[in-house]
Amino acid sequence: MMPDIETLYTETQIARRLEELAAQFAQDLPRDIMIVALLRGSFVFAADLLRAMHRTGMHPEVDFLTLASYGERRVSSGEVVIQRDIAEPVQGRDVLIIDDILESGRTLTLARDLLTSRGAASTRIAVLLEKPGKRAVQINADYVGFTIPDRFVVGYGLDDANRWRELPYIGAIKG
Ligand code: 5GP
Ligand code: MG
Repeated sequence: MMPDIETLYTETQIARRLEELAAQFAQDLPRDIMIVALLRGSFVFAADLLRAMHRTGMHPEVDFLTLASYGERRVSSGEVVIQRDIAEPVQGRDVLIIDDILESGRTLTLARDLLTSRGAASTRIAVLLEKPGKRAVQINADYVGFTIPDRFVVGYGLDDANRWRELPYIGAIKG
């Protein structure tokens, strides 16, 4: 059954913001930047962002890293583990890490430390969403789509127990 979901950002608002982010990438980053998208939550964001990057003339490489912290629950367990590793070498590469949402910062800290330890020349972070005031570890994103209040959001790749990823908008479950 469909729960009551309040739309926070519409498809149109998201698409517009992604074009702005891509324009910033084109100014700041090498055209052949290596992207590491964190699964599963960032797959929709990454797919749309890649095509926005194409429109700016960039041609990134893309790999995926599957990390897990939440399981089936809505509260972070505080532990992040690698479920599936990247396939490409990152030695000497400028890397842009893409994730759905920055909350405690544990997920992105693990991702960045891992890529740095493997010799990435630089790492930058782009997130679709950021919840301020929730950080357990000190880490900031270089690029943020939207800063949101402390609510549990779904859609546009984000899930609740692996559901609602297909929603084309970002919404908060009421109640
Ligand atoms: P962090 O490690 O920064 O605490 O959490 C980041 C991860 O927690 C995100 O990649 C995402 O999977 C999950 N997460 C945090 N807040 C939310 C939320 O409001 N909704 C959903 N669906 N996932 C969230
Ligand atoms: Mg995630």
